[in-house]
Amino acid sequence: MRQSNEFDNGVRHDWQYQEVADLFALPMNDLLFKAQTVHRQHFDPNQVQVSTLLSIKTGACPEDCAYCPQSARYDTKLEKEKLMEVEAVIEKAKAAKAAGSDRFCMGAAWRSPHERDMPYVLAMVKGVKDLGMETCMTLGMLDESKSQRLAEAGLDYYNHNLDTSPEFYKDIITTRTYSDRLETLQNVRDAGMKVCSGGILGMGEEQKDRIGLLMQLANMPQHPDSVPINQLVKVEGTPLETEGDLDPFDFIRAIAVARILMPKSHVRLSAGREEMSEEMQSMCFFAGANSIFYGECLLTTPNPAANKDQDLFRKLGINSDHKVTQQPKELEEILAQKPAEKESMFYNAAG
Ligand code: SF4
Repeated sequence: MRQSNEFDNGVRHDWQYQEVADLFALPMNDLLFKAQTVHRQHFDPNQVQVSTLLSIKTGACPEDCAYCPQSARYDTKLEKEKLMEVEAVIEKAKAAKAAGSDRFCMGAAWRSPHERDMPYVLAMVKGVKDLGMETCMTLGMLDESKSQRLAEAGLDYYNHNLDTSPEFYKDIITTRTYSDRLETLQNVRDAGMKVCSGGILGMGEEQKDRIGLLMQLANMPQHPDSVPINQLVKVEGTPLETEGDLDPFDFIRAIAVARILMPKSHVRLSAGREEMSEEMQSMCFFAGANSIFYGECLLTTPNPAANKDQDLFRKLGINSDHKVTQQPKELEEILAQKPAEKESMFYNAAG
């Protein structure tokens, strides 16, 4: 394994398979120590970035992502919802800001945004931006023109996950290709937006696929600014509903390796956090995760209630200087005001 820049500020884009496999194979304490050392070079180890995710259009997606309850191909009893009104989205963003979120992510279950929806989507970006929050969207595939318009409206981040390794990908999605995904990420980057891209673990992939996914992300010419690492949430009606459980240590190892490979990126704990114990989440933070989604639901799957997150942060001394102007309870009430507009989840990714 290359040793020269293990602990310097160098950010590499030339990771080789065996190097990454060697990291995965380290004794846990060595791996965690290495990841925490890298983490401290670039981040305050006691700060975790907090984002709120809102589903602005839920369900009826034409794609066939095997993990996703929003696909129209699976009978998941998910209530479909139309694109939300712009004003309603802004109200939710205000509530999220008051509860301590600094970034507001808006997700729509589309293959790609339709031209007729673009004016509304752009107005949402402008409205949330005017609140002084960072903006993020996940709307599916983007061409150059749509990427450009979103960037001009003030969109800071665009999420589009690679999901898994190129080799395992065809077992999970057939309606769009891996290279379609890479092309969207390129369009996003070319338009000047920050890239949020990661994957999902626990879909039946092997270790080599976790290595393959992280290598794809880490060997991009520029690392994604945010790297969501999701744990599969097995939703009834989806093809992956009976998938076996992922060993928590495999998940923690992947977080640590992501931190080492992409030292300056925010590594985000996303879907699946509801099923993680506090101890597991704290090990993930030690391994270098420094971003979470906040709020009751992540698009359509449960997410730990905001006050549970705050309790955990208190216990761990995380974000002790964070200003919260509105109690999470009130946030939950506001988020729940209109059931038809409830928050829900896409693995932080319509895509
Ligand atoms: S992950 Fe995104 S693209 Fe895939 S089915 Fe779900 S909403 Fe559609």
